[in-house]
Amino acid sequence: MRWSSYYLFTTREVPADAEVVSHRLMVRAGMIRKEAAGIYSYLPFGWRSLQKLSAIVRRELDAAGAIELHMPVVHDADLWRESGRWRAYGKELLRVRDRHERDFCLGPTHEEVVTDIVRRDIRSYRQLPTNLYQIQVKFRDEIRPRFGLMRGREFIMKDAYSFDVDEAGLDAAYDQMDLAYQRIFTACQLDFSRVEADTGAIGGSSSHEFMVLADTGESQVVSCRECGYGANVERAETQPLAAPAAEPPAERQQVSTPSCTSVAEVAELLGVGPERVVKTLLYETSDGPVAVLIRGDREINQTKLANHLDLPEVALAGEALVRSVSGAEVGFAGPVGLPDTVRLIADESVRGLTNVVCGANVTDAHLTGVNWGRDVDLAEFTDLLLVTGGDACPRCGSELTLSRGIEVGHIFKLGSKYSEPMGCNYTDEQGQERPMMMGCYGLGIGRTIAAAIEQNHDDSGIIWPLPLAPFTALVTPLTNRDDAVVAAAEGVYHDLQSHGVDVLLDDRDERPGVKFNDADLVGIPVRVVIGSKSLADGKVEISLRRGGDKELVPVDGAAERVLELIRPPGA
Ligand code: ATP
Ligand code: MG
Repeated sequence: MRWSSYYLFTTREVPADAEVVSHRLMVRAGMIRKEAAGIYSYLPFGWRSLQKLSAIVRRELDAAGAIELHMPVVHDADLWRESGRWRAYGKELLRVRDRHERDFCLGPTHEEVVTDIVRRDIRSYRQLPTNLYQIQVKFRDEIRPRFGLMRGREFIMKDAYSFDVDEAGLDAAYDQMDLAYQRIFTACQLDFSRVEADTGAIGGSSSHEFMVLADTGESQVVSCRECGYGANVERAETQPLAAPAAEPPAERQQVSTPSCTSVAEVAELLGVGPERVVKTLLYETSDGPVAVLIRGDREINQTKLANHLDLPEVALAGEALVRSVSGAEVGFAGPVGLPDTVRLIADESVRGLTNVVCGANVTDAHLTGVNWGRDVDLAEFTDLLLVTGGDACPRCGSELTLSRGIEVGHIFKLGSKYSEPMGCNYTDEQGQERPMMMGCYGLGIGRTIAAAIEQNHDDSGIIWPLPLAPFTALVTPLTNRDDAVVAAAEGVYHDLQSHGVDVLLDDRDERPGVKFNDADLVGIPVRVVIGSKSLADGKVEISLRRGGDKELVPVDGAAERVLELIRPPGA
């Protein structure tokens, strides 16, 4: 490709909403153009990178036995009614009506459509297992689209769906996809981590996320260096916390704690450790108010709470509800004397505590010497703890580390969640009808490219991992006015092309400084620079975007040297 006739326009202008480096660099390197909030055009240079990733994904999924198809963007609402998600999905589902007043939606995911396809074709156990995938546009009306391709509303996902006769079949399909994902992200040369993920109200441990580790990631993961345990904090567990030594029960007293609404203030005023203070958090749910107790030095994991309550999500109660439930201002709620209508749930961390301090349900007051059983009955204990760095690994007890990650892939065992309500059944060997066991496997194509840049850049621009680079090599003649330079550049360009290398020739009539800055910005891995001076000695300069020395190479051997540099290790 010749840059002079290619569609690649770099810019210095950074959009005001570009908060993360990948977003800024993708705009500056002419990869994407925003059309509306969370909706982008993929410009040719950016599209090449997405295509490189798509090719890797196809190669690995095909090798794992998955079969590609392509499903529609617009879905009939009736399918979503069958699965129950027309009602359950919420506002991320963009609903539209056609000219006949029929309801449709833009597909945010394709379980319904793929289940409808398979239930019409597959009748017998002999036709199973099968695994169908596509690389296709999704639409989710995200509440906060941001970070460019990282969290778009319209975005490209690879989604695969496996269908098996039983759990054992599903387990095997899942393991195969798990491996395929590991191979994909390894092939992309990304630093990633595979972690246990929240499975929502369905429960079970059969979901994993693939995280590209980066400080700008929206997800938090804990991992154990010793045994390899890794989990999204939404799901992470730890060993039971060490409780402070038990004390003989003291008398319960109400003490004045004016304006002390935080655990730290209360603990300091009363001269106790924060682990002896118990926080009471009030949540507003569709099933009424819920009070949750947790040790003062720790936080609630709201995902665990939502799962425990079998709700899609939970939110803290507003001030008015806190006042009406506790009879006090925010910051003074406590378990003693709450109305019976409030469901009281305690995190395991408070179970062994004695003589605790908690809110008195009176403004500016706390209770001391509170003991479970004597002062209040706690009947419902569960693990609601938000695990953090330094906690003990649930498997081996070593210290967990907390890091940030970008969720690029998510694999999930669905079981019969869709096949049962939608009647996606097969006949087994005994002639009995059974629901198929399904798995689903998502991978964000655009988000993975953004994550790759997040992990691979410097102050001057992108440093592409070779497998995802839009072009592999860049040939830069420093002038168009020296015929020898132009001829040498054309020669190297053609040599590389004839060897199948994706090569870009920077034949623009620009100053060397402009070409160098653009080369750094767009980040093509291998560069061949041809100038009059070194060419007089028959040499051209070869360097890697990722740093390292520049080498002077005879012009005749330039293509050969580039081929050496881009050869995969071990090949
Ligand atoms: P998140 O928690 O980040 O919203 P999700 O759990 O909704 O993600 P899935 O439904 O599992 O995501 O989708 C599979 C994959 O699709 C994700 O792992 C991610 O790579 C990608 N993805 C999801 N939502 C978006 C989005 N809004 N923009 C870009 N990619 C996305
Ligand atoms: Mg989401």
